[in-house]
Amino acid sequence: MKISVVIPAYNEEENLPEVAARIKEHLSGRYERELIFVDDGSRDGTQQVLRELRAQDPDIHYVLLARNFGHQSALRAGIDYATGDCVISLDADLQHPPRLIPVLLGHWLEGYDIVYTQRRDDEKLPWLKRRSSSAFYGLMNKLSSVNFEPGTADYRLIDRRVAEVVRASPDVELFLRGFIHWVGFRQKRVEYTPEPRFRGTTKYTVRKMVQLALSGITSFSVRPLHFATLAGAVVSGLAFLYALYALYITFFTSRAVAGWSSVLVSVLFIGGIQLLVLGIIGEYLGRLFVQSKQRPPYLVRESDDGLARPATPVQR
Ligand code: UDP
Ligand code: MG
Repeated sequence: MKISVVIPAYNEEENLPEVAARIKEHLSGRYERELIFVDDGSRDGTQQVLRELRAQDPDIHYVLLARNFGHQSALRAGIDYATGDCVISLDADLQHPPRLIPVLLGHWLEGYDIVYTQRRDDEKLPWLKRRSSSAFYGLMNKLSSVNFEPGTADYRLIDRRVAEVVRASPDVELFLRGFIHWVGFRQKRVEYTPEPRFRGTTKYTVRKMVQLALSGITSFSVRPLHFATLAGAVVSGLAFLYALYALYITFFTSRAVAGWSSVLVSVLFIGGIQLLVLGIIGEYLGRLFVQSKQRPPYLVRESDDGLARPATPVQR
């Protein structure tokens, strides 16, 4: 049996040697193993560090992406290259404690296909991160048919069968957290207390978080489009009532003053709703556009010679 560990890394030079060592420490034993580091277009010494690690340890592999494609695409690249009977993914900053790896493997050996982790809410995490993540999951659950559990990130084990499903999925912009829930199979949750980032700072800028949230929502739900319809109906209903009221004032009272404020308010209100609805439609249209171009989710610049090209050509 072979275990693959996939670690996406973006500007993580200071963390990688420690990450590699800690993972190996918890993987020692009976199984064949491979650690696949995916360099997501780093600008620091990540590449160099990966080459050095590879030279010292044949279990370590690297895939260098052609530019920064984002965490989700980097994960996907790793899963495409992995050849193990199961694939474990975790972050390169030790916030996902490698000591859980034996626990994940244990549940996998019991017969679970997906073992995912859930972070216990931790006071040490930055307030914004905690709030934004729980607000995001709350919104996701309202908006989509897939149940998202707060605090589940991309630290998980998937069986080869699930890895094949991920590889075969045609989504250009795959939101793995949602997808993994969607596929079903036998799933098991493991809770953990996150650890502080080992070195360096977060690579998830606010912009990247917003992008992730938008892709999560639009790839798993068309409910925002229903909202657009609903808002349109409500606003036009209100406008109709207001028209009746205006007619009443004009014909049955002598109070008919040219009220520019009411005109302004209704114009601004309706204008705002229109922009919002157009924006929602635009988000989906944009994604259709990107998907229709059929560009691959990532491009590989180089991989080490010990790593076979993904076996079956991935059809996307
Ligand atoms: N990451 C990546 N590409 C990116 C941003 C992040 O591969 O564009 C990696 C990063 O190196 C780390 C993981 O994704 O291994 C999670 O990022 P980070 O720890 O910065 O996010 P946070 O834990 O702060 O949410
Ligand atoms: Mg982190």
